[in-house]
Amino acid sequence: VTASDGNKKISRVRVAVRLRPYLDKEDEKGEGPCVRGLDKQNLEIVNWRNATETVKYHFDAFHGPKTTQQEVFLSSVKPILSHVLNGQNASVFAYGPTGAGKTHTMLGSAEKPGVIPRAVREVFNLVNARDEDEGWDYSISMSYLEIYNEKVLDLLSPNSQDLPIRQDKDRNIFIPGLTSTTISSFSDFDTHFVPASLNRTTASTKLNQRSSRSHAILLIKVVRTSRVLPHRQQTGKLYLVDLAGSEDNRRTGNQGIRLKESGAINLSLFTLSKVVDSLNSGTSIRVPYRDSKLTRLLQDSLGGSAHSVMIANIAPEYKYYFDTFSALNFAAKSK
Ligand code: ADP
Ligand code: MG
Repeated sequence: VTASDGNKKISRVRVAVRLRPYLDKEDEKGEGPCVRGLDKQNLEIVNWRNATETVKYHFDAFHGPKTTQQEVFLSSVKPILSHVLNGQNASVFAYGPTGAGKTHTMLGSAEKPGVIPRAVREVFNLVNARDEDEGWDYSISMSYLEIYNEKVLDLLSPNSQDLPIRQDKDRNIFIPGLTSTTISSFSDFDTHFVPASLNRTTASTKLNQRSSRSHAILLIKVVRTSRVLPHRQQTGKLYLVDLAGSEDNRRTGNQGIRLKESGAINLSLFTLSKVVDSLNSGTSIRVPYRDSKLTRLLQDSLGGSAHSVMIANIAPEYKYYFDTFSALNFAAKSK
């Protein structure tokens, strides 16, 4: 769905909510979930002022606790992949508090692979299935980076320093010095991605809060070149992002101050919410991409002609109540 702003097209961000199951069977027997799905687009959360009431929310999609990894991929991610092969940009974000299932959704496990392995496999499948007669040669590359405390770090390069973000004359955003590795198959991808992910996990246990405060960003770039002269080239970028935990938002009771504080704690996450709001309200004059590293980096892949999906992850337990409430309000505003 797009809204028109003068003659500039602004794509809205598709918003899906995924509620994970209880992790501990014992908890399930307790007071019950604080949030419950109603159907494929609607859910309700207990009203904290009056526990006998609920507040209802509507989204592009609601994925309940029984939803499989395959279902999430098919509904939210697969539809955008062919656009990337055609030279358009796309981004997929997992949003939500630490423990609600962002990494499960994006990365998953060997038995339950998530969005990242499924999307990469599918990109190769789509390229291989494209008819030779279409006249394009495809080349795929990957980069993997992390934004931590507004520093951009290359996860494919050991001892990476903070890297700058630049824009070329065609308004494409790029990071000079960022490793870009050509990959020709899924197993090629795996060879580079797995050790880099492990590096990140090790670093996060050492630095404790790091994984919940950093954004892990995988970039899959598809460049196609026409076989006939003048060998026209088109580039499509796919960003797959496991965002920092959103729980920093609940520092104080007051919404305004709370948001301001979260801005100081995680500028990128706060700015992302402003950018998504501006895009989805369809009325914005200025989308504040330049206010943070994450949104600056994603400027050409979020809004405009790009295809974007936000998967807001939430958890059923009452201890997550306020995190869930703020995640739902963010995602609902993003509609
Ligand atoms: P986050 O990355 O948001 O901090 P995780 O993805 O690490 O959260 O999830 C927290 C725990 O919940 C992990 O043990 C994970 O395997 C489990 N989990 C999350 N989502 C699901 C799900 N949909 N089904 C089963 N287990 C899940
Ligand atoms: Mg995680």
